[in-house]
Amino acid sequence: MKFKHLLSFIAFSFISVFLFAQEQVNEEINKAVRKHGLEQSKVMEIASWMTDVYGPRLTGSPMLDKATQWAVETLNEWGMSNVHTEEWGPFGRGWTLEHFDIHATAPNYFPILAYPRAWSPSTNGVVEGEVVYIEIEEEADLDKYKGNLKGKFVFLDTIRVVKEWFDAPAVRYDSEDLLDMANASAPVARRRSGNYRGSGQSLTQKLYKLLHDEKPHAIITRSYKGDLGTVFVSGVRTVEGSAWEDGVEVVPQLTMSIEHYNRIFRMLKNGLPVKISMELKSSYNSDDPMERNIIAEIPGTDLADEVVIFGAHFDSWHTGTGATDNAAGSSVMMETARILLETIKETGIQPRRTLRLALWTGEEQGLYGSRAYVGDHYAEVEGYRNVQALKPEQQTVSAYYNLDNGTGKIRGVYLQGNQAVDPIFRAWLAPFKDLDATTITLQNTGGTDHLSFDAVGIPGFQFIQDPMAYSTRTHHSNMDNFDHLVEDDLKQAATIIASFVLHTAMRDAKLPRKAIDIEMSQD
Ligand SMILES: [Zn+2]
Repeated sequence: MKFKHLLSFIAFSFISVFLFAQEQVNEEINKAVRKHGLEQSKVMEIASWMTDVYGPRLTGSPMLDKATQWAVETLNEWGMSNVHTEEWGPFGRGWTLEHFDIHATAPNYFPILAYPRAWSPSTNGVVEGEVVYIEIEEEADLDKYKGNLKGKFVFLDTIRVVKEWFDAPAVRYDSEDLLDMANASAPVARRRSGNYRGSGQSLTQKLYKLLHDEKPHAIITRSYKGDLGTVFVSGVRTVEGSAWEDGVEVVPQLTMSIEHYNRIFRMLKNGLPVKISMELKSSYNSDDPMERNIIAEIPGTDLADEVVIFGAHFDSWHTGTGATDNAAGSSVMMETARILLETIKETGIQPRRTLRLALWTGEEQGLYGSRAYVGDHYAEVEGYRNVQALKPEQQTVSAYYNLDNGTGKIRGVYLQGNQAVDPIFRAWLAPFKDLDATTITLQNTGGTDHLSFDAVGIPGFQFIQDPMAYSTRTHHSNMDNFDHLVEDDLKQAATIIASFVLHTAMRDAKLPRKAIDIEMSQD
């Protein structure tokens, strides 16, 4: 071998070693995953059952139990293994809205668009009364209203000026947005300071205490956003304890559409007495205080003791059918499981690690379901992030993938500060460039169940999704319905996640982990 040839041989060897070290992409898997995910999708069919038939899915409600039963039956029918529910709790009482109507009756009649906040109790039949706006700037103001609010409808907010929509409510990320995410530096670890509530009672708490004592017919607010028929509604506010705890007293609370709220507010300012008539029937169910996560598996082979988990929260708020939050994520994850079953059948490729689907409940009230699961299996955790001790099973999870940012397609992945997975995810995303998923960002995203895993040192990821009309229209609103699910986007998401899950299951090593931040509680 001539010296020159030797040099090129060495260079070639280096390149081969480099190529070999690069993350493997299995074309056969991706071909089958695309066929079942993009061409033979069932995601909209799944979503229709989950929303139109089994929605809304408020944690604790009998409807959530029915939805859970349907999901378990469906997963069994498909041939998933080890389909079961895992209990967490006690959560408390469920709540179901049974009847609601509300009208203005003076100075003239008009129907009102408003919704009870979750866990609002029934009124005593039809109730009628005057609307009063109460203005509280300091504690002394509370005295003015003592003894004057019984039988009234209490307005707590001032007018919100409505602006016309000159920009489309739905958006996708453009290349500039994605470039910003890709170039963002790793987030600085923030340590939360201990006491959020501050000492003593806040003025708002004192106001609610007054309202509880006074017993008005209802407390009425308008959300800080929403118009043109869209109303953003979540749960009631209480003086002490959570609304779903047995025995906690709740005053009926409503969120009114902004146009009707503002109209009534302006009439009051003009000195005209406004009267409302309302009937609210709801029921609490406290027979079973425990709640359930749904688990289903596809067994692994040589590394079957290790798992790749993919999940989303299954529960929702109550005024729509919980379509974009989060039947979108749950349908995509169920569809991912179905695509994986079909892909395994078609290619004969058996996953090395066990694939585990998890549908969480209690997310909307504080990530309860996923935190309980992590607590049962992986670590003792105090509060949200104070890890006290790890359990042996913590070592068995390669990754947790989550979807909970609405109906938008996947544009990439948040690394959640785990830089070592960057080249791996880059290689796995590359074949999906034609589906617009290209961006890897060091940024974190919060607010959902991957945090429960991230907190205990398990690589937990949430995908970057196009925003669509999530924050402007559907997230926690009465318009969170099937019609706002975008079919092509959900198909794309399930396809990419199926590929990620199977690639995670097939690689020799588990995904790299970041150093765990065990914060022993100081207080
Ligand atoms: Zn959600």
